[in-house]
Amino acid sequence: MAWTRFGKKKDMPGGLWIKCESCGAMLFRKEFEQRHRVCATCGYHFTLPARERVALTADPGTFQELWTELRAVDVLQFNDRVPYSEKLTATKAKTGEADAMVTGTAQVKGIPCALGVMNFQFLGGSMGMVVGEKIALLCEFAAEQKLPVVLFACSGGARMHEGAVSLMQMAKTCGALQRLHRQGGVSISVMTHPTTGGVTASFASVCDLLLAEPGALIGFAGPRVIATTIKKELPKGFQRAEFLLEKGQIDRIVPRAAMRDELARLLAYATGRDPVAAFKSQPTAAQGAAEAEVTVPAQPAEKPRKKQKAKKE
Ligand SMILES: [Zn+2]
Repeated sequence: MAWTRFGKKKDMPGGLWIKCESCGAMLFRKEFEQRHRVCATCGYHFTLPARERVALTADPGTFQELWTELRAVDVLQFNDRVPYSEKLTATKAKTGEADAMVTGTAQVKGIPCALGVMNFQFLGGSMGMVVGEKIALLCEFAAEQKLPVVLFACSGGARMHEGAVSLMQMAKTCGALQRLHRQGGVSISVMTHPTTGGVTASFASVCDLLLAEPGALIGFAGPRVIATTIKKELPKGFQRAEFLLEKGQIDRIVPRAAMRDELARLLAYATGRDPVAAFKSQPTAAQGAAEAEVTVPAQPAEKPRKKQKAKKE
């Protein structure tokens, strides 16, 4: 086969084909991107870059980004092979992003909200001082402007390069959400694959409504760490969204193709609007393009995954 010349790489940037991490099917990249990175064969939800998530969630032209000037500082002069400051510079150049979180205001089917989306492409979506600060600012802004908050989590956890400063963001983001709630604000957390470590253990789990994408890995420590610590075999589907729904840790699993509709409905309820009216506005630019060329299939409810991988930064 022609693609074998790419070697063992699962993901071939710039290549025409991509291999599904779950079922191994070869997916035509263009079609795969039009399906918003959901496998057409098994329904596996690949990690979605933050900007694509914003395009898929917000009404066209409504996203106004805020706090773009925030930059991380290498307080510890942290050095793991490559100094943290150099790593930051390289990652900024590679991703075109300043850090692992994009925040701003947007409308979802005409309903204004404060939107925060984590970017896994930036150092594994790790939460450091910039991510924490942006979430805190977003909550304060939302409280002032009386906006509901929607946070998409996608993270390997706290950013080790920032040490205790990074861990502090757990308390800080929880505190910010608590103040928002006390002022009558509403928050929705969407946990996407993977949501792990200090992000699961903080803001992603303390919002009013907890949604997840199908098959998302959601946990604190990784399954291998837990299995070796407790010396027991873990139950099937452990730390997957479906397992957590069954155990009551999350409220609902929403496939990517239905996420915007579901968010609009929940935001309508949360802000005292007519939920039916939330279905009358136009699709996003991203959705419109996708639906014109590809029919998004109904998501299979649960498919066993062959590989369970989450990159940790
Ligand atoms: Zn697949």
